[in-house]
Amino acid sequence: MELESLCLHAGYTPENGEPRVVPIAQSTTFKYASTAEVAKLFDLDEAGFFYTRLGNPTVDAVEQKIAALEGGVGALCTSSGQAASMLAVLNLAQSGDHIVSASSIYGGTFNLFAVTLKKLGIEVTFVDQRAPDSELEKAFRPNTRAVFGETLTNPSLDVLDIERFAHLAHKHGLPLIVDNTFATPVLCRPFAFGADIIVHSTTKYMDGHALQVGGVIVDSGNFDWASGKFPEFTEPDVSYHGLVYTRAFGKAAYIVKARVQLMRDMGCCQSPQGAFYINQGLETLPLRMERHCRNAEAVARYLSGHAKVESVNYPSLPGNPGKALADKYLPKGCSGVVSFSLKGGREAGARFIDSLNMISLQVHVADIRTCVLHPASSTHRQLSDEQLHDAGITPGMVRLSVGLEHSDDILKDLEAALEKA
Ligand code: PLP
Repeated sequence: MELESLCLHAGYTPENGEPRVVPIAQSTTFKYASTAEVAKLFDLDEAGFFYTRLGNPTVDAVEQKIAALEGGVGALCTSSGQAASMLAVLNLAQSGDHIVSASSIYGGTFNLFAVTLKKLGIEVTFVDQRAPDSELEKAFRPNTRAVFGETLTNPSLDVLDIERFAHLAHKHGLPLIVDNTFATPVLCRPFAFGADIIVHSTTKYMDGHALQVGGVIVDSGNFDWASGKFPEFTEPDVSYHGLVYTRAFGKAAYIVKARVQLMRDMGCCQSPQGAFYINQGLETLPLRMERHCRNAEAVARYLSGHAKVESVNYPSLPGNPGKALADKYLPKGCSGVVSFSLKGGREAGARFIDSLNMISLQVHVADIRTCVLHPASSTHRQLSDEQLHDAGITPGMVRLSVGLEHSDDILKDLEAALEKA
């Protein structure tokens, strides 16, 4: 099936007389007839639902759908995008290990990597994703365990050269983890370019209606975990009577371990109700992404011709430094997010945001309603000026998340606010 059809049909096929819509299995637990059957589930000898932290029919349907959309062997929904990034890394790195990450990533992921992972003994080296290979090579160490980047960075909207990063990672025997939140599988499918693991904040376009907070990890099934660099996959897990993940689960070793070991122990699971909302969003994702892109392009063109606007960043705009990468990785469009700076700097940015009428100021992005945010004073507030610069953010940058209203209404609101800025 094509992506549009997978969005509607993957993950759930009702039998005769069953609900047409994925039902919400609002139950923490599942009934069994014998202790022997439950023991088999706990030993991972048989697959089945027994406790919602580890698996639930509604969540499972969404996981299967997202795995199909990204072209992976399996997926694991989490309670937030942050939880997805955390588990994706902890599933392959432990104290004493090291990660290489692009510096222009979402501020929350930056904090997770720079502060919290450091406390757990995992060090992260941040690199400029536009640097040449010779420069990037310097970041790798013998204890490096993965490379991380965002397809379309939040909020600077740089396009990751996924193929180049995958090649670099693989040269060192490492997987590439890509956060595909802004692009969604509708605009880019990173596995086709060599990425090994994908994470998403499903809070964003996948849901799209601002109804739930969630995340997902998707496994391509392509990475060889048995190279010797990842003993956790090839040595017995004492918490499962000596189970060896690569032997027992083959191509799905990574995603099964994330679920049965880390989700079991850390518990940051998605709820059945939350999964239901994500599924609702996924059903219309291709339609919405098309309109988000069309509206954002109109807004980017309008802003780049405005006298008060210093610069506009939307990768597909002619002359944008990311245009060639956008043409390669995001030929259908670059999402609904546009960032721009006003000539009047931080104060003008604040006046502009405060003068908007229909467009609302909110800590969110990738919503059906157009919204706006000032990253330097909100999502990226904890970053120093130097870190802000490395993340591609100027103090006056405004991040606009263009929604699905009529483009004339969006442009009218922008024009009136720019007059007052
Ligand atoms: N990744 C990206 C690109 C994001 O924009 C965000 C949140 O804005 C996250 C991850 C974290 O997701 P969540 O807010 O669902 O924890």
